[in-house]
Amino acid sequence: MYVARTIVESERFLAPARKAHKETGLVPTMGALHNGHMSLVDCCRGENEITVASIFVNPTQFNDPADLEKYPRNPERDLEILSSAGCDMAFIPGMRSVYPAPDNRTFDFGKLGRIMEGKYRPGHFNGVAQVVSRLFSIIRPQRAYFGMKDLQQLAVVRRMTSMLNLPVEIRACDTVREGNGLAMSSRNELLTPAQRENAGLIYKTLVDASNKSGMEPGELKRWVTRRINSNPFLEVEYFEIVNESDLQPVEKRGDAEGRLVGCIAVRAGSVRLIDNVFFPNFEPL
Ligand code: AMP
Repeated sequence: MYVARTIVESERFLAPARKAHKETGLVPTMGALHNGHMSLVDCCRGENEITVASIFVNPTQFNDPADLEKYPRNPERDLEILSSAGCDMAFIPGMRSVYPAPDNRTFDFGKLGRIMEGKYRPGHFNGVAQVVSRLFSIIRPQRAYFGMKDLQQLAVVRRMTSMLNLPVEIRACDTVREGNGLAMSSRNELLTPAQRENAGLIYKTLVDASNKSGMEPGELKRWVTRRINSNPFLEVEYFEIVNESDLQPVEKRGDAEGRLVGCIAVRAGSVRLIDNVFFPNFEPL
């Protein structure tokens, strides 16, 4: 696997590939890799001749400095994992390569940017859009791969790509989970064993909620929140039932437009966990 730490090094590998009309897929990550990331790499390898994974902990998307400070980092191990997964190039840029000058752009994602993660992590999606658009212009992939675990991020990246007319196809991959159902996340490394075990309740509750017929969204929201909050290790920050199409909250079953998704953020101590589950049985009464 080729490792590039600067744009010049990246071009050394990618320019000849582009000349040979090889299609490239990009998997943007912040490192501390796990099987969720690896599923994106697998998906990318299946659809592209060249797979590039980037590792960059992007400061502009952290609204909480303590979260940035304690974010897990393990670049040596990450490189080994990527190499054995068959990744062709790892891009591990420094701050100067990604931001040679401060990025002052502000993106307006409208209502999409003001709910859920947008509401609880102000500025987060602006930072995501900044870094992803920069990675797209550095790597110039035909396709880029994102996880459904971060469903709102996926929608924001799609919006940013079309706002900027970027010729990149955004591909979504399923959420990979730990044995107890907890969505894999680099932040899971920061949980104590007891927190990690108890955090399995998040997914279990979402699945049980998705199978409940006959409850209105408000009632279901209270049920999910009560059940998770009754666990001493967990505290719900938000739980919303939203339309898959625009991620806007639905207050009445009758207002659903197509499939609904239950989206949640939970705090386990100082660690913030997010997850979502589609509600296939949630039909109008
Ligand atoms: P991160 O390194 O957390 O920024 O994540 C990089 C990419 O991996 C994002 O597109 C995430 O949505 C995706 N990802 C993170 N966790 C998972 C997971 N458990 N399953 C699938 N994709 C994931």
